[in-house]
Amino acid sequence: MTKEEENPDWVGAQEFYKKYETKEILGRGVSSVVRRCINKQTSQEYAVKIIDITPSDKTTPQQIEEIREATVKEIDILKKVCGQENIIQLKDCYESKAFFFLVFDLNSSKQLFKCFLSRRMKRGELFDYLTEKVTLSEKETRKIMRALLEVVQFLHNQNIVHRDLKPENILLDDEMNIKLTDFGFAVQIQPEQKLKEVCGTPGYLAPEIIECSMDGGHAGYTTAVDIWSSGVIMYTLLAGSPPFWHRKQMLMLRMILSGSYDFSSPEWEDRSDTVKDLISRMLVVDPKQRYTTTDVLNHSFFSQYVVHEVRQFSPYRRFKVICMTVLATMRIYCNYRRAKPVTKEVIKSDPYAVKPIRKLIDACAFKIYGHWVKKGQTQNRAALFENTPKAILLSMAAEADEPAHHIW
Ligand code: ADP
Ligand code: MG
Repeated sequence: MTKEEENPDWVGAQEFYKKYETKEILGRGVSSVVRRCINKQTSQEYAVKIIDITPSDKTTPQQIEEIREATVKEIDILKKVCGQENIIQLKDCYESKAFFFLVFDLNSSKQLFKCFLSRRMKRGELFDYLTEKVTLSEKETRKIMRALLEVVQFLHNQNIVHRDLKPENILLDDEMNIKLTDFGFAVQIQPEQKLKEVCGTPGYLAPEIIECSMDGGHAGYTTAVDIWSSGVIMYTLLAGSPPFWHRKQMLMLRMILSGSYDFSSPEWEDRSDTVKDLISRMLVVDPKQRYTTTDVLNHSFFSQYVVHEVRQFSPYRRFKVICMTVLATMRIYCNYRRAKPVTKEVIKSDPYAVKPIRKLIDACAFKIYGHWVKKGQTQNRAALFENTPKAILLSMAAEADEPAHHIW
């Protein structure tokens, strides 16, 4: 029997348990647990997010009320965004005094279930895929990021800000199709409205959110914060480690505030200038100068490999293709000439500089240490795992009263 079923105050939950049978845990959040469940009548599988709103030693009645209100908001937004193919679909919801039950489509049920049993997830959260695969190719990144940015554009068109974009909240199926989940912090604003609440996950916070926590008189933030987080995700997919990381969280926040990140790790050597250019336009400290979803989707990183249907013969297009082919061939030849020969000395003195060996070292280190692969002062894959706890959702009143360092 699960904790939810043992609770005497489950009158309101009876309806849920009459209709569904709960199974193993698929994931956990701060105050929720997500389980696989089965509709008893149709035998169809779903995922149920069970949100605990029972008071405990750790939670105050005010916090409970905040969680309740936030869940009502989450349900409201989920209903508004229903129908977009890359957003998880809310199918059903139930409320009791002690729990909320949000029933969703199950994401790649078989795969997740299998992964859960083997305890080595292959797909599931984008997060799990990343930690196993270390980095993604530009092609894979393009597919995931295009779908993510299209979802974000769909949300922003309705003035909805997600505020918690991160790999853990992006579910993947076997064909690398994404489903965005966790609308716990999402909010719909008026066209000119600005937000001041400090919420999200530290490593993915936009500078203007951090500024709001330090300056009560700050003008506030809007949808651009999601572009910043998307930039952080994109960087992480390609580098295998986040752009902003420091052992001391306060210093990490300072790095975010000043936009201090670079493309210096060896992974970036093989990445195109186009992808670096796009990331650098998303990770712009000033939200007014930052790219919008439309700018991002129109960037050449997304358009360069779209194969357009050629309706009629065009001499200009033909000439362009010939020029590009010659240029590409020259580039390949020059790179080939520039490549350093791999000698015994190089392998002995700096094995990490040789790409296949570097990949082998990374893979072996990952197998042995799990995530403890440190690659320098600012490059730490462990940081991927340190970003899970969410920042506390603070009311504006508390913000004004407390000095900034208390928040973190
Ligand atoms: P929280 O708001 O508490 O972070 P989430 O909605 O992010 O909760 O869900 C927590 C975890 O549960 C996710 O990271 C994911 O691993 C898993 N999960 C959520 N929804 C589904 C789903 N529909 N199918 C499979 N797994 C899911
Ligand atoms: Mg989550």
